[in-house]
Amino acid sequence: MKSQMDLIYHQKKKQSNNLKKARNNYIATVYDDLIKRKNLKQIHADIQKIIVSDNNEGLNSSMMGEYAYNVARRVKRKIDTYPMGYEAILLAEIIFKRFQKEKVFTETNTLAYDTSQKREEERKTQVIEDIEKQAFDEKKVFYLCSEHKDCALDHIDYQGKIYVDDRWQSIIQDDVLKGMIANYVIMNNIQTFQWVIGRPVWMTTRPNCRHFFKLLNNSDVLKAKNTRKLLKKNKMYFAVGRGETQSINHSTKKSWYTKENVENIIRLYRERLEFHKSLYEVQKVPLIKRAIEKDRLLINKWTTYLQKI
Ligand SMILES: [Zn+2]
Repeated sequence: MKSQMDLIYHQKKKQSNNLKKARNNYIATVYDDLIKRKNLKQIHADIQKIIVSDNNEGLNSSMMGEYAYNVARRVKRKIDTYPMGYEAILLAEIIFKRFQKEKVFTETNTLAYDTSQKREEERKTQVIEDIEKQAFDEKKVFYLCSEHKDCALDHIDYQGKIYVDDRWQSIIQDDVLKGMIANYVIMNNIQTFQWVIGRPVWMTTRPNCRHFFKLLNNSDVLKAKNTRKLLKKNKMYFAVGRGETQSINHSTKKSWYTKENVENIIRLYRERLEFHKSLYEVQKVPLIKRAIEKDRLLINKWTTYLQKI
C-alpha cells in the first residue's frame, strides 16, 4: 500500500501543477481578449479551444475554463463602462486590478488544489477496496498503520498501531485461531480498520494523509510482543514526510518558519511569479512589472532565510 500511496501523492502534485499552468493560459487568454474588447461569445470560443486541447492531452481543465469565463463576464461588465478607443495599456491596468480584487491567483490555486484532491480521494478509495479484498483472499485480519515522526496532530494517537478487519469472524474459519484473535483484540483494545479509516479519524482517507497500512500475517501479530518491533521489521517508521498547502500562509510565531513551511512559501511565490509573467507577456503594464519585481524580491528574501535555517 505504501507505493500506491506515494504514487497517489505524486499524481496529485503533478495534476495540481498542471492545472496551475493551465490557469496561466486561461487567464492570460481572457486578459488578452478583454484588452482587445472581444465580446463574451468570442471569449467563450477562445476558452473552449484551450479546453479541447487540454482534454486531448488528458488534462481535464474544463472547471478552470469555467472559472476563467465567469471572471471574464464580471470584469467585462466593469470595463464596458469605459469608452471604446480607451488606451490598451490603461485598460490592461484596470483589468489587472480587477483580477487582484477578485483574488484570481488564490482562487485558481484553490481550484487546482481541490480538483486534484477530489481525484486523490477517489484513488484512495480504490486502494482501500483493494487491501480489503486482499485481506479476504489471503485470510489475513490484521493491519499495521505506518508511523511518521512529523504526523499531523489528529493522527498521532492512531498511528503505528494494529487494527483488525471488522469482518474477521467471517474471514477466519478455524475456531482455535478465532479464539486467539478474539483474545488479542480484547486484551490489546484493538479498534477496527474500517473504523479508523472512517469518521472521525479518516486515517489514510483524509486529504494529505500519507499514512498507509500493511496486512500482516496473523501469526506475526499474535506472536509479537509489541508493535514497535512490527513497525521496525516492516520498515513502517518514517522520520519526515511532506505536506503541501494551497495558500501563502504566514505566522507570527518564529517557530512556525520551518524548512518545510518556508519552502512552501517560496513555491507559492514562484507560482505567482509565473502567473504574473504570463499576463505581462500579453501586455507590458508597469503595474504588473512591479508585481513581478515584488514576487522576485519575496522569493529572494525567503531563499536567504531558508539558507540560514
Ligand atoms: Zn495521517
